[in-house]
Amino acid sequence: MSITGSTAIVTGASRGIGRAICVALAAQGCQVVVNYAGSQEEAEATRALCEEAGGRVLCHRADVSDMAACQGLFEACADAFGPPSVLVNNAGITRDGLLMRITEEDFDRVLDVNLKGAFHCTKLACRGMMKARYGRIVNISSVVGLTGNAGQANYAASKAGLIGLTKTAARELGGRGITVNAVAPGFIDTDMTRVLPQAVREGLLSSIPLGRLGAPEEVAQAVAFLCSDQAAYITGQVLCVDGGMAI
Ligand code: NAP
Repeated sequence: MSITGSTAIVTGASRGIGRAICVALAAQGCQVVVNYAGSQEEAEATRALCEEAGGRVLCHRADVSDMAACQGLFEACADAFGPPSVLVNNAGITRDGLLMRITEEDFDRVLDVNLKGAFHCTKLACRGMMKARYGRIVNISSVVGLTGNAGQANYAASKAGLIGLTKTAARELGGRGITVNAVAPGFIDTDMTRVLPQAVREGLLSSIPLGRLGAPEEVAQAVAFLCSDQAAYITGQVLCVDGGMAI
């Protein structure tokens, strides 16, 4: 794999899938901006792993639901490394509950972080990418954005929304050499899924043909591929990395 784009912003990269994506991109020679919301120590741990993999790193705290904070993130990236040629919209949260019980606040917060955050960052990234006539954007959706999931109306709506955003951006930006794709992970072993009750975990496991959870690194390899030169003719797609869960 080779990645022409040399500067990547990865949102929500202090832990889990975002951290693994940073390490995979650093290993391919990218300079990486590790964005996070609050976990500074975890972000510094991501930095150390990326530096070990051979990449230069900037850690930057910003709440992606806040456009002004995203502007600060992109300015910090431009000052340190230049404008990004790779953007991975990975930041995501859950606030689960049955549709009848979910509060408006919890609905809005999940949409604001998961979907509007990606809108903010895409808008800020595409100006420089259009000028460069080159760019790679990958949005981290979820299989539940394709299938729905009881107890996750807000989360599933945000992840389905990301697929619409991906396809639209792919159509609008393709003429400028920018590809936009989504990766839809299934059940991946991170902090997000470690909090699930045992019965829920067992139910999920029984729905996965490969019979196991995925590792963050397995999602990261798919993302790195979509950011590579080898994926130059792939745009507007949703790649499930889910052990067959959504077949
Ligand atoms: P995770 O371990 O909970 O990590 C979430 C990351 O997002 C953290 O780095 C967190 O930063 C950051 N974040 C949260 N709110 C943010 C905000 N407002 N602004 C900026 N960053 C924010 O989650 P994960 O499992 O790695 O998930 C990563 C992505 O994959 C998410 O979009 C998730 O929906 C998606 N996904 C995960 C799974 C799975 O099974 N794990 C399945 C499908 C899709 P702090 O550490 O600073 O809080």
